[in-house]
Amino acid sequence: MSNRIKLVVGNWKMNLTSTQGKALVEQIAPQITDRTDVDVVVCPSYLTLTRVKDAARDTAIKVGAQDVFWMEEGAFTGRVSAKMLHEFGCDFCVVGHSETRGRFGKLEIPESTVGYFAETDETVNLKVKALLWYGITPILCVGETLEEREAWTTEDVIATQLRGALAGLDAAEIYGLVVAYEPVWAIGTGKTCESGEAERVCAFIRQTVQDLSDETVAQTMRVLYGGSVKASNAAELFAQPNIDGGLVGGASLEAASFIDIVKSA
Ligand code: PEP
Repeated sequence: MSNRIKLVVGNWKMNLTSTQGKALVEQIAPQITDRTDVDVVVCPSYLTLTRVKDAARDTAIKVGAQDVFWMEEGAFTGRVSAKMLHEFGCDFCVVGHSETRGRFGKLEIPESTVGYFAETDETVNLKVKALLWYGITPILCVGETLEEREAWTTEDVIATQLRGALAGLDAAEIYGLVVAYEPVWAIGTGKTCESGEAERVCAFIRQTVQDLSDETVAQTMRVLYGGSVKASNAAELFAQPNIDGGLVGGASLEAASFIDIVKSA
């Protein structure tokens, strides 16, 4: 029986101005002060981080970034490094999200723009290493597309993503890692993965990480489910033994739904 503390992460993506983000945190924080059994993180845009962090001071809410670049500094226009996030005081950072892997882009935005997002397992690995070096917890996203699921390659895809992301890292280095199972076909679509199937894949993720490290790392690691999590399905998903919380997009943008999801954890 594990004693992992649940974790609910709101990924705000390119939504909410600083003013809106601050207001949202001020609405959420008082509602969750008594919750010691769940960790709550919000990941605003870089521009919004400062005001959100100020609003979250002395509350139960922690802040995370949505992405990072792996070099420390230099001529990398538009990028933000782990060193900068560390000095700022970011505790978490999403990495390898399907939108930065370029998959979402293929569905939702013109093909010509996909290259701006196209991330590989190798760049995810560089980002994970940069975050770990600076003591920031990576929230590593993995997940299959609909085509991959229909071709029965879900496990292969996820094992490849995990092996790629964690290449060259030993058990001590990845201790405390967070992995989010995010089936690409469920993100922002309203289609949630059925809880039994989400549990099966999350258990597979834990086993794969155990094979790549050791049992202590795998049993300590929090595995989140992400993909159209909402107040109405969160409790059932979070009740699964290998699902330790959620990575929440759309439903994290509104105080009432996010609070309900946190309370489901
Ligand atoms: C996400 O972007 O990580 C996500 C899970 O989004 P949504 O909850 O909107 O599907």
